[in-house]
Amino acid sequence: MSQPSMLPFIDLQAQRAQIGDRIEARLHDVLEHGRFILGPEVVELEAKLAEFGGAEHCLSCASGTDALALVLMVENIKPGDAVICPSFTFAATAEVVVWLGAVPVFADIDSATFNLTAESVEAAIARAKDEGLQPKGLIAVDLFGHPADYDRLEPVCAAHGLWLMDDAAQGFGGVYKGRKIGSIGHYTATSFFPAKPLGCYGDGGAVFLDDPEKLSILQSLRVHGQGEDKYDNVRIGMNGRMDTMQAAVLLEKLAIFPDEIERRDAVALRYNDLLADSVTVPTVADGCTSVWAQYTVRLPHGMERTAVQKELAEKGVPTAVYYPRPLHQQTAYRHFPVAGNGLPVSEAAAKDVLSLPMHPYLNIDDQDRVVDALRAAVAG
Ligand SMILES: *Cc1c(COP(=O)(O)O)cnc(C)c1O
Repeated sequence: MSQPSMLPFIDLQAQRAQIGDRIEARLHDVLEHGRFILGPEVVELEAKLAEFGGAEHCLSCASGTDALALVLMVENIKPGDAVICPSFTFAATAEVVVWLGAVPVFADIDSATFNLTAESVEAAIARAKDEGLQPKGLIAVDLFGHPADYDRLEPVCAAHGLWLMDDAAQGFGGVYKGRKIGSIGHYTATSFFPAKPLGCYGDGGAVFLDDPEKLSILQSLRVHGQGEDKYDNVRIGMNGRMDTMQAAVLLEKLAIFPDEIERRDAVALRYNDLLADSVTVPTVADGCTSVWAQYTVRLPHGMERTAVQKELAEKGVPTAVYYPRPLHQQTAYRHFPVAGNGLPVSEAAAKDVLSLPMHPYLNIDDQDRVVDALRAAVAG
């Protein structure tokens, strides 16, 4: 028997079949007007994104990583400071803290949502102080698209005088108890990397905030720290602009994003129904919407994950592991402090998580292929 063809893990071509014409028309407009840097599409996109995210302001930028870094720069993070963040996340969350000479202090997560717990954040703050560091901020991550537990995290930040940033690279488009992702905390940073729920055709990112003074500093930082006179740079910044082509793509993708979020949710809920008796399926907290950046299950304890992946691949079902190692166990990060006596929940999650194909255009037949293959593999 010949090998079945591999399903796409994320199907960007299916999305292109919906709106490819409109995207090409938008790109054509940019080629015509030729304002490739901070052109009119960038301005239009920032206004639409701010409204969508429920924030006063949106500053577009070159990547999600730059979005995170710009916030740390506007907050003047420096050596001697600590920023609390999860370890079970993509490296960029902590990387930017180290760029600025500060120390990331890793906190542990809840085993059901994979997001930070308030107790572990408290422990990380205490650990930072023990190390002689000044805790300045908290970066919460909406891992796999599920909002972090802001009702519990906000009081901890307030009690310790920390700013709160939502790293919403995976969560943008979601809702936390009636509040839009983009409107929570002091800042939200997001990414438009192609594989994110809202992605462009290259790199892109954005910062959301309400404070107009911070916005104007961010605008300066995004263009090398320029002042009123562009040949008088008043601070050290970066080249962090989103290019106009990417903004043009995003305008069309944003228009269908609400519909895509509903479609993703339908796929996830159906997966949940059909997989709940085989594996631990993801939960969604009351009043929350996940945008399902990843649909991630946990395999039965001790099951050989690579064998399961291999069996699925043979049936044409791709899988991925986000993340096989928490940051505090990776070479570049292992010397940074962690909350309490270690991060057992993060370490356990890294051993048994498995992410399945997820995108808005995953049809019923393909969903069934994924479900049947996983059920068979787990049943042995
Ligand atoms: C993707 C991602 C980033 C980085 O975004 P880039 O646009 O790739 O720089 C940061 N944090 C998290 C949680 C991510 O998933």
